[in-house]
Amino acid sequence: MKKYGFSLKELLYINLRGIALIFKLGKKVPVILLVSLTCAVRTYWTIWFTAILLDDVTTGAAQEVIIRDLGLFVGGGLAFSLLKAAVDHYYFFLGSGIWDAANIHLNEKILNMDYEYLESENIYNKRRDLEEMAHVKGGGGINMLYWNLMSLVWETVDIVIAVVYMVQMILKSGSAFQGSRLYSVGFVLFTIVLTVLGMRQVNRLHKELFEINNQMIPCFRESGYYVSDYLEKESSGKSIRLFHQQPLIWGHMEELFRKMCGFQAKGFRKWVQIDSITSGVKNLILCIIYFYLGILALKGVLSAGDIFLYAGSLAVFTNSFSIWVSILTQLAGNTKYLKAYFDFLDIPNKKYEGVLPVEKRDDNRYELEFCNVSFHYPGSEEYVLKNFSVRFRIGERLAVVGRNGSGKTTFIKLLCRLYDPTEGEILLNGIDIRKYDYQEYLSLFSVVFQDFKLTALPLGQNVSAAMDYDKDKVKEVLRRAGLGGLLQKFEMGQGLETPLYTDFDADGVDISGGEAQKIAIARALYHDTPFEILDEPTAALDPLAEYDVYSKFDDLVGTKTAVYISHRLSSCQFCNDIIVIDKGRVVQHGSHEELAEDKKGLYYKLWNAQAQYYQV
Ligand code: ADP
Repeated sequence: MKKYGFSLKELLYINLRGIALIFKLGKKVPVILLVSLTCAVRTYWTIWFTAILLDDVTTGAAQEVIIRDLGLFVGGGLAFSLLKAAVDHYYFFLGSGIWDAANIHLNEKILNMDYEYLESENIYNKRRDLEEMAHVKGGGGINMLYWNLMSLVWETVDIVIAVVYMVQMILKSGSAFQGSRLYSVGFVLFTIVLTVLGMRQVNRLHKELFEINNQMIPCFRESGYYVSDYLEKESSGKSIRLFHQQPLIWGHMEELFRKMCGFQAKGFRKWVQIDSITSGVKNLILCIIYFYLGILALKGVLSAGDIFLYAGSLAVFTNSFSIWVSILTQLAGNTKYLKAYFDFLDIPNKKYEGVLPVEKRDDNRYELEFCNVSFHYPGSEEYVLKNFSVRFRIGERLAVVGRNGSGKTTFIKLLCRLYDPTEGEILLNGIDIRKYDYQEYLSLFSVVFQDFKLTALPLGQNVSAAMDYDKDKVKEVLRRAGLGGLLQKFEMGQGLETPLYTDFDADGVDISGGEAQKIAIARALYHDTPFEILDEPTAALDPLAEYDVYSKFDDLVGTKTAVYISHRLSSCQFCNDIIVIDKGRVVQHGSHEELAEDKKGLYYKLWNAQAQYYQV
């Protein structure tokens, strides 16, 4: 039978894994839980000593005995309160650390996972599940498990002690009257059945509450969209004002808030019902308990203290049992979020399987070859590259041209192992690139992608991609990339420490698109890798400006290998090695002069179609 979509075995496995992770992230958690066991006993401290004092008084115990017992009662109670406060405080402190550590784990995973996952729909859904989990009461997943763990331990201890007292009461009641032990067993069973029946109702209400919470999740998603994806974006700000979208957006938000209030009211009603059932059952049971224990006392088998002790422990049982079931129900519902968390962490990193070191060559003689490579994106059947073969050596310039969507960027993604070929292989110095250590292989390339990103961090860190960097080298590459003027301006202020953008720092500087592009180029140059690649970072420029950037970059890379991607043929005409891609296939290969002469070729057609843009 499945509960909350899981078998009992799965529920146990996932939650135990969660507990193991909590113990790993917070090494002191098991110790605190052990210490907290003593706090669980504090519930009984009052019961024990009230029973003892009652017996002291009713049996006429000596004054010193009563004072001693009173002292123990008050002193012990105080000690337990202090211990509980300390345990609570420390548990809270550890909890926030665990919450952070669990999130850091996720971020580390996102930073290091195989790139191809970031583009996949499946991962997007998993990430969304994780974001939604944070909206479930107080944060679902590891957080919810952690905050319920201590109560679970306490309630379990209280239940076990209560069971011991129930057994003791049954044994003591044996001599009260004919068949009294059987009556006591029946009475205890009746109490348990009543508690369980009450809990079943509460359980049902908790499930309904869980469903209500689930229904609210899309609302959180939608409200998140309005607030962080729409209202806070500058680009939306323009549309809102120019198209007078305020009533439209506000209308949707109002409708959404009304819907959310509806769900909250429904949830509140469920909580009221849960409370009523819980306290109703508790009070009913207490009445019955006192009635039955009163009879036993009248028969002379229980003292006044015993009545208080057994009534107290049965009440604790009822109370703890309902909390216990409610925690287990919440944890069962929470399993979905724990699973989402672990599923995300479990995504395998296939790219990291290779171990071969990349040969460090002083002569930089690297040769790369695509051998009959075919590729389609995961989740799509359509081949983006088909029987793709090309070879190039260090020091060469390779231009890859073709229409938009012909597969040029995909070629670069495969070259840099952001994806692996579906068929065929890519060789570095004759060895399949999958066999190389992934990080070492990646360190051969610097790419300026069309959608390159700079970060809201200091300029120097953006260029070097590191916290500590060679300042002179950063300045040199910035100058080489044509940012000497900007650098001079920055030198009057914070220099390389100048933060880019104003997201986190009011002193940050906003840079133009062209400057950003040059910083991205400087970043590629700083890394001084054997292969430098430009994948249309200049798409927003006009063809002449793009040609200018490409040819200047060509001067900058010197003797290294450079790969140029463009759908504009003019940008790459200086390359002596041009491949033309069409629908994922290499259709032509040669120098600009050779290709331009082939009147039947695609290059000739594209060149003539685009020629109007090159004439000034
Ligand atoms: P180009 O760089 O020549 O403009 P791309 O290599 O970017 O072309 O894209 C080639 C084809 O692959 C296009 O049809 C594009 O829609 C498809 N494509 C690109 N990225 C993905 C992806 N992550 N998932 C599925 N298809 C993709």
